[in-house]
Formats: sequence, C-alpha cells, structure tokens
Amino acid sequence: MFLSVFDVFKIGVGPSSSHTMGPMVAGGAFIQAIRDSPFKVAGLRASLHGSLAFTGKGHATDRATILGLAGFLPDSYVATKADEALEKIANSKTIVHDDLGALSFDPAADLIFDYDNDLKGHANGMMLFATDDQGDVVMQETYYSIGGGFVLTEDELAQGEKGQDQRPVPFPFKSATEMLEMSKKSGKSIAQIKKANELSRMGPASLSDGINRIWGAMNDCIDRGLEGEGILPGGLFVKRRAKSIHEKLLHEAGLNLTPPHTINDWMSVYAMAVNEENAAGGQVVTSPTNGAAGVLPAVIRYWLDHVPGANVDRVEEFLLTAAAIGGIVKANASISGAECGCQAEVGSAAAMAAAGFCAVMGGTPEQIENAAEIALEHHLGMTCDPVKGLVQVPCIERNGLGAIKAISAASLALRGDGSHIVPLDACIETMRQTGRDMHSNYKETSLGGLAVNVPNC
Ligand code: SF4
Repeated sequence: MFLSVFDVFKIGVGPSSSHTMGPMVAGGAFIQAIRDSPFKVAGLRASLHGSLAFTGKGHATDRATILGLAGFLPDSYVATKADEALEKIANSKTIVHDDLGALSFDPAADLIFDYDNDLKGHANGMMLFATDDQGDVVMQETYYSIGGGFVLTEDELAQGEKGQDQRPVPFPFKSATEMLEMSKKSGKSIAQIKKANELSRMGPASLSDGINRIWGAMNDCIDRGLEGEGILPGGLFVKRRAKSIHEKLLHEAGLNLTPPHTINDWMSVYAMAVNEENAAGGQVVTSPTNGAAGVLPAVIRYWLDHVPGANVDRVEEFLLTAAAIGGIVKANASISGAECGCQAEVGSAAAMAAAGFCAVMGGTPEQIENAAEIALEHHLGMTCDPVKGLVQVPCIERNGLGAIKAISAASLALRGDGSHIVPLDACIETMRQTGRDMHSNYKETSLGGLAVNVPNC
C-alpha cells in the first residue's frame, strides 16, 4: 500500500491525532454520508468507546467530534471560530448545515463516553448516529481512529489493504529490506525512490509546494511555541517552559560559559515548543502523530540552526526519507499509542527523524536504515500513560528526549558503515509484538503507569 508523504505529515490541530483529528475527520465523513443518503435526517448522536472514552476528555475528543459534525476540518481549523460554533451548538442544541438544515444535537445528552463497551475493531472506536424526527436511528456508522489522523469505517477496517489505494508505484517497497534492495538496484537514494513514488500521484510542483507548506507549518509551530507562555489547559496546571528555556539559551549563546551538553537543551526546546502548542490545541503537523509531533521538526530545526552546511533546500530530502520510514512502520506495526504504546508514537517519530537527519548529513541508504533502527530500538517497550489523559506529561519532555535520541542515533550510524546486528524490519516487528503484548492500561487509557502514580489535582 502506498502511503504518501502527505498522509504521514498532515497539518492538523492538537492535542491528539487519534483522539482529536481522527474524530473530527470522522464527524465530517458522517455528515457527507448523510448528504449522500436518501434519508431525511433530523438529529445526530455520538458515542465514544475504548481509549476515545477513557482519555477523550483530556484529548478534547468530544469537542473534536462535535466540530467535525459541524463541518470543521483539521487542516483549516481556526480556534476562535471553533469556540463560537461550540457555544452556538450548546445554546441552540442544534448543528446547522445550509443543505441539511438544523439537526438536533444536545452536546450534554447526545454525545456519550461509553466506558463499558469497547468496539471490537480497534482501541479507538466511535459510533455516529443519524435520527429521524421521531428520534429513531435511520443511519449509523462505526469509525476507528487508527493513529496519525487516519480514520477507517468498520468495512474499511475489515477490508484491510484491499480497501486502500492499490494503484502501482515505481518502487513498491513494503519493508526496509525491500527499500534497500530497490535503492541499490536503481542507484537512487531513499528520498529519490520515495519521490518517484510520490510523483506517480502528483506533479513535481504540487509535491514541492506541499512539502514547503508542511515545513512552513512545522517551523511556524516551533516559533509560536517559543513565544507561548502561561499554563496549559486541562487542569494539570503544567507551565509552558519552552519560551523561558529558549531565552536562557539565547542569552548564554556566545558567552562561552555553557558546557557542551547544553546543545541537548536546544534539541529539546524546539520539540517542547511544538508539544506545548499541541497541548494548547494549536496547529501542528502530525509527525507521524500529534503526540509525537515535536521530534521531527526539532531535529530539522536543530540541523538548520546549529549544523554548519545545513540548507533549507534539503528539507524535502529529509521529509521524504522520514516518510519512507514512517510508511514502513505503519504498514508493519503501528504509529498509534492506543495500539502499541508510546514506542509506536515517539519511537516511530525518532526513527523517522534519525533517518531524515542521517540522509541530509550524507548517510548512505544502509546508514539511514541503521539510524532509524537505533532510534526505534531504544524506544522499545515504552508505554503510553499520559497523566490525566492529557498529552502533556510525559509527552512534552518525551518529545525533547526523542529528538536527542534521533540525533544521537544518526550520529552513531554515520560513524559506521551501515552494517549492524538488528535489521530495522526485525526491530519494527519487535515493536509490533511488544505492543500486542502490552497491557491495555499502558495504551492511551491512562489506567496505569505515570497516570495512576502521579497526583494530578
Ligand atoms: S505518552 Fe506518548 S503515545 Fe501516549 S499520549 Fe503521550 S506522546 Fe502520545
């Protein structure tokens, strides 16, 4: 299955790709299904299940679902308009669409968190219902938010790969082994074979414009995060720190007083800036998810700002290489914390960032594969246990540490010749098995780990 660079990197809204973006997309898809149906619909209802129920409040899943039903989309989301729309819906108890009229929907009664009935297809399940003027259900659809903002209906999930884009691409690699073989045989870099695949779906101008837009959104998010102050929403009273750390780093720069390890703070602060923006409900780019959105932009920004010879013209190479790795991880394991724990989110992000960084630092395809493997290997087993169900603790710092690991992994790989003991494919399979065996308390339910051991009020 072909996974475009624009599927991996999507401009969206915080705090979570699976719990915020996905439900918003599902809401919009359901409204479209109503439009395409023969039914006269008078009302809407929704239920959230599994992880969407357990951590949905902290992830604003209820808000996102309602906004999706009201026609909001993650990539064009404007917070002030969303707040106005939610207030209107709460007061009028209706969601109004020009073509469908006023559909009854009372947020307090018509959206339920169902903690008792998990849906069988995936940990992140939700059901949307359309009712007639008697209140009887005339349409319903089950959606699964499978991570990274991807949403599948029950049927699409059952179809698996058959339901995905099956059109051929020039380099149809499904594993890291195949990717390396195709790269070697063609004499092209990983970024070049990924680019050839992308160009089978769009023209060069669209590809380059889209990638520039993605990097622009990532970089803007870092800049906004470095200016943000105050306390993050959600009731955990987490203070935004990126701005003050950044100011201290700027002050110290050039004074020749700081120890060498201070460079780690630069790597961290860019990632923390993104994840503080994400936690505040701001615009971020899934990389590959919102929870892990800081790692990859931080590594690019570190490279551009601190590494001699870095050139913004090569960001495309970075992102294409990273997307190639992200596609392999998603196809063979998962990028979802609810499916495989945080190893699948921050671990995958670190693997992607390590690969991209290794590529722009002149690494061979073998060194790039090695870099991704080192980064992922040293996230294996990492659980997802967000305190109070908020994508704040441990998530914000964890992205900083993920960026540091990614850069260290690439640097180590560049010291070798690409040969190593654990193939990336074996590491990805290990992550899948570890995630499968991980207790559900550690998969974005906030029922274990830090979430139950940290006082949160
Ligand atoms: S702990 Fe990791 S997987 Fe879980 S919400 Fe935070 S960043 Fe996402």
